[in-house]
Amino acid sequence: MAQTLDPLTAIPSLDDTQAGNYFVSNYPPFSVWSGDHASSAVSRLGKAGNAETPLGLYIHLPFCRKRCNFCYFRVYTDKNHNDIQQYLEAVIREARLAAQQDFVAGRTLDFIYFGGGTPSYLSAKQLTHLMSGLKDALPWESPREVAFECEPGTLSEHKLEAIRDFGVNRLSLGVENFDDDILESNNRAHRSQEIHRAWEWLEKIDFAQVNLDLIAGMVGETDANWRRCIDETLRLAPEAVTVYQMEIPYNTTIFKEMKQKGSAAAPVANWATKRRWVGEAFAAFEAGGYQIGSAYTAVKDSSTIRFVYRDQLWNGADMLALGVSSFGHLDGVHYQNEAHIAPYVAAVDSGRLPISRALPISGEERMIRQFVLNLKLGRLDPHPFRERFGVDVIDRWRGLLETFQAQNLLTFGNDSIVLTRNGLLQVDRLLHAFFLPEHTQIRYA
Ligand code: SF4
Repeated sequence: MAQTLDPLTAIPSLDDTQAGNYFVSNYPPFSVWSGDHASSAVSRLGKAGNAETPLGLYIHLPFCRKRCNFCYFRVYTDKNHNDIQQYLEAVIREARLAAQQDFVAGRTLDFIYFGGGTPSYLSAKQLTHLMSGLKDALPWESPREVAFECEPGTLSEHKLEAIRDFGVNRLSLGVENFDDDILESNNRAHRSQEIHRAWEWLEKIDFAQVNLDLIAGMVGETDANWRRCIDETLRLAPEAVTVYQMEIPYNTTIFKEMKQKGSAAAPVANWATKRRWVGEAFAAFEAGGYQIGSAYTAVKDSSTIRFVYRDQLWNGADMLALGVSSFGHLDGVHYQNEAHIAPYVAAVDSGRLPISRALPISGEERMIRQFVLNLKLGRLDPHPFRERFGVDVIDRWRGLLETFQAQNLLTFGNDSIVLTRNGLLQVDRLLHAFFLPEHTQIRYA
């Protein structure tokens, strides 16, 4: 079927940073998942999974020292030791419930991701308890990747050693910016001194891969400071760098402040400036020997540095979700857990899977999902789509691809679609044009 959407009306505008989601992290969009479909996820878990499909695990640890002004995740900054302990018991209990499902029987975990929130907010003792509970409950044999997110100010040498000893082989450090005033203006909990202290420990403790996160366009960012962030990152020389462009979803503190002031534009750089900053960062990283692996990542050595979680998820892997508001995917069924901690813990305590909303997706939606997520890598091979879905993606979207090619956003032929750097830096904006018509009008930045 030929794609008839006009890409110029389907994709959002280029102007100021307004409120809304910019990043496409899944498809169909979260806003069309619903409580009415929660039972589809429960019943899918009750049937055998496909042994050929990789199985992953995402664990949401929703505690942070402070809530960053740009944060849109489910996080808590007011929980005491007992609250956290109760939450960890619920997560372990949920892991046992998940492991009893026929969907998991006979399979082992290929990749595991600890996200948040701030997983490193937990003490070494709490982490040890959680890890041993999860390892006992789940088929955690020899996953290819165990990824773990850290906030620099929550680390100690002892905690990092414990994290390494749990088998974590991809540690992600949320630096975001090196300037103390900018960190403070954005209500970030850590300061530059804590970044450097954490880095000294990381240099002693051997993780297979350390990724450093930056955000282009925090409140207060300037050309000169961004250049310092790039230089400082190159000096530290992590195995991987991830650079996000600042977006302002509706549930952020920044959006609340915009509403109070009646302002439509967020107090951050516009999209053109943020793209330029990421472009400058990518150019500097390439000059420093890195390779650009996606719209957001630079890696030191693409022949050895992998991001298994991303690659498997973008290619249709199954993923179990543990924890409050956590997202998962079960052979064509998206699902999300209870969005608040009290109903989440109550569900698990009563022996029930805490799934609150889901969406069974069609074969066509699965194909579009894999297509748009893989375009974020900057290079797409159409052949797997012919084999897996029986769809020639070039034929299906030829009109759109020609339009984007004419705009210097990509080039394509029968064997590949390759985004130009200009296209890669704004890929999320372009992806909406490939969505089904009923999903293109959902509000994005
Ligand atoms: S550290 Fe991350 S999860 Fe925590 S408040 Fe900041 S952005 Fe949100």
